[in-house]
Amino acid sequence: MSEPHERDTRELIRELQSKRRRRGLMRLVGAGLGVAVLVAAIVTGIVLATGPSGSGAPGSSVSATARVSTTAITSAPTTVATTGEPVTSTSSTTTSEPATTSTTSWLSTKVVAIDPGHQAKANYELEPIGPGATTKKAKVSSGTASPTTGTPESEVTLAVGLKLRDALEALGVQVVMTRTTQDVDVPNSERAKIANDAHADLAIRLHCNGGDPSAHGLFTLYPASIAGWTDDIAVASKRAATIIQAAAIAATGAQDRGLQERSDLSGFNWSDVPDVLVEMGFMTNKDEDLLLESGTYQDKLVQGLVDGIVEFLRAE
Ligand SMILES: [Zn+2]
Repeated sequence: MSEPHERDTRELIRELQSKRRRRGLMRLVGAGLGVAVLVAAIVTGIVLATGPSGSGAPGSSVSATARVSTTAITSAPTTVATTGEPVTSTSSTTTSEPATTSTTSWLSTKVVAIDPGHQAKANYELEPIGPGATTKKAKVSSGTASPTTGTPESEVTLAVGLKLRDALEALGVQVVMTRTTQDVDVPNSERAKIANDAHADLAIRLHCNGGDPSAHGLFTLYPASIAGWTDDIAVASKRAATIIQAAAIAATGAQDRGLQERSDLSGFNWSDVPDVLVEMGFMTNKDEDLLLESGTYQDKLVQGLVDGIVEFLRAE
């Protein structure tokens, strides 16, 4: 059963890599256009300032300039925003291309693996919870679901995961996804191996929680140190969890439920790279579920996760 999974996964990685190359090219073209428009606007501005009376039709010349200037104003910040890096962008917004390139260059060497938790259909076949383990768990459990809307956890984690991918790639980070659609069958051990194979600097697993209807808030799990399994990633994982938890709380205003150390999760125990699991909120809480399913809140969450991930990567 693992053969088809591995083939699917490799195809997924190949597909993602070629998509990333295409997107990178588009970004370059986009940045080039932005700069060209900016230069055109400046040149037109100089011509207008030095000789407005020289033109035979001042009225039409002014309106043409106004149109170009508007384009420049809207396109230039967009170029900075898509490739710039929020924490240091204040120092780079005054100049355009060279500064942007230098702030993102260190991020372009970083690889982040994103695992949107669960999938459309659970897979209750068993797998060892770590290399050589006799204890086994389901390859992929079903996850929770919203009692009000019926939305499964796997849809929310995928929506946030794809947004997180786009936000990180916009900063130049290389991203590997364990899945990009609902209809996959990727066991938790396999998800860890995808991050391992990519030599990810960080693996982040996205989940939502279920429980008592009154329970709400966000918390982050990290692997306990287990000799031969996670002892080499435990310290870095806890550091990542601490930073990401704080950033996610700051961005969302969710209740801070802190950190949790876990020794029973296959996704952690098979991991060879720093690994965290963010429980983004409770789908069984009516208010929090509405937030988790809304695009605006997902964007806030993603911003928090990006802030935390970048801060963690900066210190690595
Ligand atoms: Zn889950």
